[in-house]
Amino acid sequence: MPDLTEAVSEIADAMAREQRRGTVASYIPELAKVDLDQFGITVSTLDGDICCAGDADVPFSIQSVSKVFTLTLALGSIGDALWHRVGREPSGNSFNSIVQLEHEKGLPRNPFINAGALVVSDVVLAGHPPRVAIGSILRFIRWLADDEDIAIDETVARSEAATGFRNMALAAYMKSFGNLVHPVEMTLGVYVHQCAVAMTCRQLATAGHFLADGGGRSSTGHRVVSPERARRINALMLTCGHYDGSGDFAFRVGLPGKSGVGGGILAIVPGRASVAVWSPGLNQHGNSLLGTLALERLAKAMGWSVFGP
Ligand code: GLN
Repeated sequence: MPDLTEAVSEIADAMAREQRRGTVASYIPELAKVDLDQFGITVSTLDGDICCAGDADVPFSIQSVSKVFTLTLALGSIGDALWHRVGREPSGNSFNSIVQLEHEKGLPRNPFINAGALVVSDVVLAGHPPRVAIGSILRFIRWLADDEDIAIDETVARSEAATGFRNMALAAYMKSFGNLVHPVEMTLGVYVHQCAVAMTCRQLATAGHFLADGGGRSSTGHRVVSPERARRINALMLTCGHYDGSGDFAFRVGLPGKSGVGGGILAIVPGRASVAVWSPGLNQHGNSLLGTLALERLAKAMGWSVFGP
């Protein structure tokens, strides 16, 4: 068995030397200000080991990684009825694409593209004022990460709310098909706040640990979701978690993963570990460039790809 601590520190060294950096997301003005030169990694194993390297304790905007947590909450509240409003197929299009919505009558391909995540946020709203739904999302994430210090970066939320015209279009378009229940402003308000949750790699790896642990939280003995639900969320992360880069991520890394335009990726090694990586520079699909490289190296070094060693 290769040594995990060694593998993690070698990866952090290699990433520090890497010439390619990618580009920060600039369509959310606040994210454009983040220093490109950062890289963090945390691996949290089922044996209880936590290995960190680089900027693992620097908070970053989790952005679309939040979609894993809101999906878990929405499934918890309405169960499989969610699948009447959101599909489960990879889209092959960019995360903020609108094209398929016309053919599919306002039904988004999957819960991880923006359109699907907006429907999920609409489900989490469940007739409550947005601040109540936002509070319940934040509480859930804090509970999963076992860390009350996790907070929402209001500046990032406001920055996206002021400029998120593409998401406004997606929401309005789905509303026209009746696939959003609440006023679009309310759904968008929840969505930009869940995306603006700031977390460190250490917190994110801990929060996602239940997906590696068959839905359980062995540290406290609580169950978050059933093993079947954890398996299904992992399946969606594998097939849809990196948008039109999901095939390439499966090919290179071979793990369920969810990326965000803040540069974070949560990856799951079922039965073994959860991994959070962060580096703000993105590739052409809006996924962390160094984060993906780091996961590719980690999966290879540890023989962790779900497709075999
Ligand atoms: N808040 C971002 C958006 O809606 C999230 C996108 C992402 O992280 N891929 O554009």
